[in-house]
Amino acid sequence: MMCPICKKPADLSPRNRFRPFCSERCQMIDLGTWASGDYKVEGSQAADNEHHDDLKKRRLLN
Ligand SMILES: [Zn+2]
Repeated sequence: MMCPICKKPADLSPRNRFRPFCSERCQMIDLGTWASGDYKVEGSQAADNEHHDDLKKRRLLN
């Protein structure tokens, strides 16, 4: 099983709390909290969800 973000082998055993990602970094990337800095703004839940959906769509296109 590969990490869906960085494509490196990911540890899927229970000791990896970030699975299916390889690391916290990739989990954060998947959540869409890395690029825009939205995560620093409290009360922007709607914007975060929009961003997340956008990321998902882009990944499907790739
Ligand atoms: Zn990764």
